[in-house]
Amino acid sequence: MKPWKMSRRCLAPILILALVLAAQAVVGENLLLLKVSPASPRVVDAVAAAGGRVVQELNTCLLVRAKATDLPRLRGAGLACEAVGDPDGDASYFLMHSPLRAPVRGTESGLVHLRLEEDVWLLVVRDPDFRSRLVQPFRLKALWLDAALPAAARQPAPSRERALRPLQDNDIAPLVAAVSSDRLRADIQSLQDFKTRFASTAECEAAGDFLLRRFQELAGVQAYADPFVFESHYASRNIVAVIPGQTDPGQVVLACAHYDSTSNNRYVAAPGADDNASGTAAILEMTRILAGAKFDFTITLLCVSAEEWGLYGSAHYARQARAQGADIIAVVNLDMIAFPGTLKRELDVIGNYNSTWLADRFITAAAPYVGIRLDKVINSSLTWSDHSSFWDQGYPALCGIEDSINPYYHRTTDTLDKLDLGFALDATRGALAAVADLAQPLSMPAPPSGLRARSQVSFSLFLSRKTVYLDWHAAAGTIAGYHVYRATEPHGAYARLTGQPIAARAFTDFFLLPDQAYYYVVTAVDSEGRESNYSQEVRDDQDN
Ligand SMILES: [Zn+2]
Repeated sequence: MKPWKMSRRCLAPILILALVLAAQAVVGENLLLLKVSPASPRVVDAVAAAGGRVVQELNTCLLVRAKATDLPRLRGAGLACEAVGDPDGDASYFLMHSPLRAPVRGTESGLVHLRLEEDVWLLVVRDPDFRSRLVQPFRLKALWLDAALPAAARQPAPSRERALRPLQDNDIAPLVAAVSSDRLRADIQSLQDFKTRFASTAECEAAGDFLLRRFQELAGVQAYADPFVFESHYASRNIVAVIPGQTDPGQVVLACAHYDSTSNNRYVAAPGADDNASGTAAILEMTRILAGAKFDFTITLLCVSAEEWGLYGSAHYARQARAQGADIIAVVNLDMIAFPGTLKRELDVIGNYNSTWLADRFITAAAPYVGIRLDKVINSSLTWSDHSSFWDQGYPALCGIEDSINPYYHRTTDTLDKLDLGFALDATRGALAAVADLAQPLSMPAPPSGLRARSQVSFSLFLSRKTVYLDWHAAAGTIAGYHVYRATEPHGAYARLTGQPIAARAFTDFFLLPDQAYYYVVTAVDSEGRESNYSQEVRDDQDN
């Protein structure tokens, strides 16, 4: 046998193996954008376990970035996976909401559309002028394939309500009474008078200047512009007003509305009276009124730009907030609040699962002050406005929007004369009441400090029981007494243990399960019955 024959026989399998390994290496590096269904916390966990990252949550499916080599594990976990894109490629990706069956004109390459759900499409875009091929009405959200949703974005998080005292009568009524429909009308007119507010136009920047001046006129407000670049070569600005909190300024309640507009002739005429001068006017009016009051927490009022291009302004703001570790406890987004239609005067309050508590709290806080119906909608597929940018960063957020379909929306005919200022007045009042409640008016007593919880377990033949001894420091001001609350998980659902406020600065909790950990907070109640925020939480079995 000649040496070269033998070596070729030996080499052949090695070469094949090397080729297979090389091919695997290439495939393994390959990133895929997958549509994974169904969408549930279990599936989210399975995606994470298989090495995937959730890029977008929808009601019935997830968009997931994963390596090609992760696919067998995902499919092995019983998930339906369909490759819908290539994160390493040169395309841009958008979600589009459109009720149309054929939302895209023509069939040329450069714009691929795939239906993900009823009314929800994935656009794979290689032509920067793709918007001219979309059939109105459409609502766009640019997808950030490099990002991953934090776990908090996809799971219920009732604990975010921990920072808030129980809802009660307080100083909100006079704030709500100050909302003026004449001012809302004048501000919608001013914004409409810019002719167009399509982001990237000089007119939109002039509208931004107008909003910045309005914020700067208010005492007690820190106003600034927040510039950003989008789609490589366009620029615009969010306009921001900050009312610093008095007690705990690190906790932030944020209200926002986009001030940019679009239409079927967007560079020339996009009055955007309902969409969304109405929400922007509400933000201006809320800022004016809230600046005259004091709150425990910081209130940020945000006028967003480039929403119509694909939520660029809010994505810029929310990604930056998350990167800086901002503690935004709640976001209230207003988008189209002045066209109730003829049948029902109803404002939808839209949240994802993580924001369910916020939608409930908003409705409870707002309902006493409005003559319109407030309808809770929990649906993570409703991603077409700025609340969705905050969902993506794990912040609880909701959108207040008229329930009816405005036939003038995204048209040159979306003008003030079509609007119902009475409905906008009620929507603004409701949002103001909710934001004031969330930010916690300062006139309330301060919470007690120095809470300690020491526990002792007593054993007997048949029964072991735990006793927890609580004490705390006196709260500042004139305090009539204290309430004690207990939960069985951290920041869980607190149950009040005291019927009437107790005068003592100590409390003993008897007959508890020895193996269960208990979590306590206390509040202070003043002579007028107003209750403070919760104190710091303590756990019973820790040294404190
Ligand atoms: Zn809008």
